[in-house]
Amino acid sequence: MQPRTNESQQILFDAIVIGSGAIGISTAYHLAKEKIKVAIIEKESGPAMHQSGRNSGVIHAGYNLKPGSLKAQYCVKGNQELREYCQEKGVPIKEDGILIIAQTESDTTVINELEKRGIANKTPVKILGQDEIKYVEPRVRGIQALQAINGASIDSYSYVKSLANDTSSLGAKIFYNNKVLSIKEQGNIVTTKTEKGIFLSKVVINAAGLYADELADDIADDIRIIPFRGYYAELIPQLTHMVNSHVYATPDLNFPFLGIHLSKRTDGRVIVGPGAMLAFGREAYTFGSFKGGRLSKTLGWPGFYKMMARPEFQKLLQQEIKKSILIKAIAKEAIQLIPELTENSFIRSYAGNRAQLVDRNGNLIDDILVRETSQSIHVLNAVSPGLTCSLPFGRYLAHQAINKL
Ligand SMILES: Cc1cc2nc3c(=O)[nH]c(=O)nc-3n(C[C@H](O)[C@H](O)[C@H](O)COP(=O)(O)OP(=O)(O)OC[C@H]3O[C@@H](n4cnc5c(N)ncnc54)[C@H](O)[C@@H]3O)c2cc1C
Repeated sequence: MQPRTNESQQILFDAIVIGSGAIGISTAYHLAKEKIKVAIIEKESGPAMHQSGRNSGVIHAGYNLKPGSLKAQYCVKGNQELREYCQEKGVPIKEDGILIIAQTESDTTVINELEKRGIANKTPVKILGQDEIKYVEPRVRGIQALQAINGASIDSYSYVKSLANDTSSLGAKIFYNNKVLSIKEQGNIVTTKTEKGIFLSKVVINAAGLYADELADDIADDIRIIPFRGYYAELIPQLTHMVNSHVYATPDLNFPFLGIHLSKRTDGRVIVGPGAMLAFGREAYTFGSFKGGRLSKTLGWPGFYKMMARPEFQKLLQQEIKKSILIKAIAKEAIQLIPELTENSFIRSYAGNRAQLVDRNGNLIDDILVRETSQSIHVLNAVSPGLTCSLPFGRYLAHQAINKL
């Protein structure tokens, strides 16, 4: 495709960041703070239009993450930094903690494992009995719970927008409405080809979220992003008083998804979800929609079939198909947590797609994955809780980039 306008005017930047989600903006922010000449290139008209603005908005506490994983390290650090950032900048935040509810004896085994992980990850956690649950969330039914007091809600769009403004104020240039087509390294210079022209830089950071594997090209040919649609219901406005904070069902630790939760957002709405259904396109946000399609890329991937063939995945899929079509299937799970709710308590809400990496053998990659060449850094699996991780993770990426200058 011929470039339409030469937006870059062939300036040589120190660093180019692709993508204005939480990870790309945080990386650029930390680079700009170090007085690095940085530009961000984003295909949409503003920041946080995909995963970073279409999530649960939970600042996770880190109780569920495997100790020693990158996610655990960045989440616990990021939790504190993000809460401080939002307080300082006036980004909407609600700090009421998270409850993970056990409803059966087997759930309590998982709760005990989560408590161990929380302690190992150095995040404050506490086991609550039945009566103590009522004290925090009077309408929730459970036999035991884990409380993570550092859990909070933020307005994720406002956070990324605020960080983008800070980054611009530090001198970074942000080019919206400009899609990156390819990255080419030649000697010490990287040529980033976009729809509107060529950008030159000494280093490039690919934080393109759902498209990061495509831009990474050869360096990621053993892995593929498979999009999972996280769809939400929400409580009707008359019932939002029934939840004070975040109420999570006990998760299935075989999957990197946290399971259903009812979460009070900073605007007072209570979202219920998200599910985790295969999406028909990386940016397809409704059931059966093909936007951002290239479904053949998913279907042509051997790991996709191996993932689908796994019995535990088939079980997950069966539940998820039902939930993604029928609101009453989501309602059923939420009613187990709050029996006063009925099928009429819920309406459909928004959706967001997760960029989940899957290898050739069908394994879902569970941790953050970053790959580098001499002049480029590719963020390939910025999975949940990537929003929570974004400040320390972006600082790490900026540090890696500076080492390449
Ligand atoms: C349903 C759901 C719920 C979640 N809940 C939480 C939560 O409660 N708490 C939490 O901590 N984390 C949560 N996460 C995870 C978190 O949202 C992500 O980890 C994080 O937002 C990833 O940020 P990112 O910058 O890597 O990706 P994105 O936000 O997707 O940003 C990538 C950007 O790159 C741009 N881009 C892509 N291709 C190109 C191209 N060719 N040229 C130019 N630009 C391009 C995109 O337009 C996009 O703006 C959730 C995720 C989902 C999907």
